[in-house]
Amino acid sequence: MSHDNCLFCKIASGEIPSKKIHEDPEFVAFHDIRPAAPIHVLVIPRKHIATLSEVTPDDAPLLGRMVVLVSKLAEQLGVAYTDGDTGFRTVINTGPGGGQEVYHLHAHLLAGPRPWSRMG
Ligand code: ADP
Repeated sequence: MSHDNCLFCKIASGEIPSKKIHEDPEFVAFHDIRPAAPIHVLVIPRKHIATLSEVTPDDAPLLGRMVVLVSKLAEQLGVAYTDGDTGFRTVINTGPGGGQEVYHLHAHLLAGPRPWSRMG
């Protein structure tokens, strides 16, 4: 399941260190090393899926749980949308045309006061 030379597979396994905020049998979440916003967390499945373009209907339950996890983590980070001007942004870049640099599916969770340095 883990792919050789995949940075995020190595982060998921612990081979490469990261500032993790969540781990479970299916997912890992950690702080982005080059944050584009005051809060910038990456949520990844342990399963190596390179891009959103290669997901299949079989992946739907996993991706559903991943989105639910993003929401739960936003709540834990204190940025869930409740009322007023609260909330967060969720981004999945796909392929060179989408600005993807790491080819292991990941959702960016971004929040905090603007301006943000990128993805703004
Ligand atoms: P982009 O760089 O355009 O956001 P991606 O959507 O592929 O491209 O995002 C990859 C993200 O992974 C970047 O935000 C980058 O800062 C982050 N990143 C790269 N290496 C590490 C690392 N070792 N630990 C944590 N985050 C990392």
